[in-house]
Amino acid sequence: MKTRRETGNSTPLLPPSSPPRISGAIFFALPRQVRGARLRGAMATSPEDLMRRTLALAVDNVRARRGGPFAALVVRGGEVIAEGTNRVTTTNDPTAHAEVVAVREACRRLGSFELAGCEVFASCEPCPMCLGALYWARIDRLWFAAGREAAAAAGFDDAHIYAEVPRPPEERVLATRRLLVEEASAPFTAWAELPGRVEY
Ligand SMILES: [Zn+2]
Repeated sequence: MKTRRETGNSTPLLPPSSPPRISGAIFFALPRQVRGARLRGAMATSPEDLMRRTLALAVDNVRARRGGPFAALVVRGGEVIAEGTNRVTTTNDPTAHAEVVAVREACRRLGSFELAGCEVFASCEPCPMCLGALYWARIDRLWFAAGREAAAAAGFDDAHIYAEVPRPPEERVLATRRLLVEEASAPFTAWAELPGRVEY
């Protein structure tokens, strides 16, 4: 979970497409390396520069009280298509993790439900939800900085979700029961019979 220690805030929420704003005082409190990455902005093209920009975004997100200490970029051909930061507590959305926010914004901007040809830079190893989202988005490559152990040490432990995935549904902590199995093929039949369906 990447929200446990977050608290509410009074900072007005920026629309997802806005570039991150940062006050001068906060900017100059950032490490020099991080400031450099921010100044290079869209010119940042090396993986290291892009990850520094991602880490700077995450720091900014925390200090601006917009959410948890996580950020992500969607990049195509060295161009930053979208930025995302954790907005769980400020949008009351448990799925508003940085990677999901970035993927949604990139898809909106590209007018596509796939991000083939894109790379994602994440400040931290994605949780199972975000990892799944990145597979569904069919990105080409994932880069991340902090490992899940560092996230756990900071209070954002998703190990229990990773542990749940390989378990049989009935053995998971999340109470799960099947119902109407014999009637459950109706949606698939409808899909198979739909002319001109958009495959994904
Ligand atoms: Zn996540």
